[in-house]
Amino acid sequence: MLNGKTALVTGSTSGIGLGIAKALAAQGAHVMLNGFGDTAAAQAEVAAVATGGARVGYHGADMSKPAEIEAMVQACTAEFGAVDILVNNAGIQFVAPVDEFPVERWDAIIAINLSSVFHATRVALPGMKARGWGRIINVASVHGLVASANKSAYVAAKHGVIGLTKAVALETATTPVTCNAICPGWVLTPLVQKQVDARAAADGVDNAEATKRLLSEKEPSQQFTTPEELAAMAVFMCSPAAGNLRGTAVNMDGGWVAQ
Ligand code: NAD
Repeated sequence: MLNGKTALVTGSTSGIGLGIAKALAAQGAHVMLNGFGDTAAAQAEVAAVATGGARVGYHGADMSKPAEIEAMVQACTAEFGAVDILVNNAGIQFVAPVDEFPVERWDAIIAINLSSVFHATRVALPGMKARGWGRIINVASVHGLVASANKSAYVAAKHGVIGLTKAVALETATTPVTCNAICPGWVLTPLVQKQVDARAAADGVDNAEATKRLLSEKEPSQQFTTPEELAAMAVFMCSPAAGNLRGTAVNMDGGWVAQ
């Protein structure tokens, strides 16, 4: 379905971003990966499921650095000829009460989880408009719709991502470029495993019990959403059927925000 298109997926060496990258490559899109850690393993994993001659690239831009984000968009365009699909997914978390929140962690979360979405969008959008097709998919969170205690920076950033999604959707409303957000509830990735570990330590329980407690507090289904489910939504957002889906924030959260 996406043969000949190119996707740039930020933060795609792990978790949700890696899942989305694999699903887009499986649909035939060239994919430019980004993120830290075992980048070779991520590239191999995506290449293994790519179809129709889709190629996989990698750029190590630090999403807290606007100049590196610009360079990444340019590198993707140079290597594959375009950025047709931009998935703004890179994100970090830090948990502390607002009056104890380290200023440096606040700045990092706003830069990586919010400002990077602005920078990648502003640089990639002109090419999408010029080529007459584009999809901007922002991985926000239920925390873009509701809050939780001790996550002030993350909640502020994710609410900002949803606001930015709506603004970009309005600015592109008469064009073949769409902008939407996906809002996951709990997804068992390294980002969340850290919170499970913290809960296990705080409550003096094992991993299984800590996982159960974390889920039952917020997620009525008491099940994790999977990267594969989120990736299927991203693929749908790239399909012709989603051509007039604009400015939405689709929650896939086991009922979290229905409460
Ligand atoms: P993860 O930790 O598994 O992956 C994060 C990715 O971002 C990794 O590839 C990492 O290398 C990359 N990254 C981190 N800092 C970066 C930086 N400065 N520059 C470039 N890349 C960087 O996390 P995840 O759970 O897959 O999270 C992905 C997105 O989904 C995030 O935006 C997160 O807020 C959001 N999200 C996650 C959950 C969840 O429950 N896991 C829920 C809602 C939303």
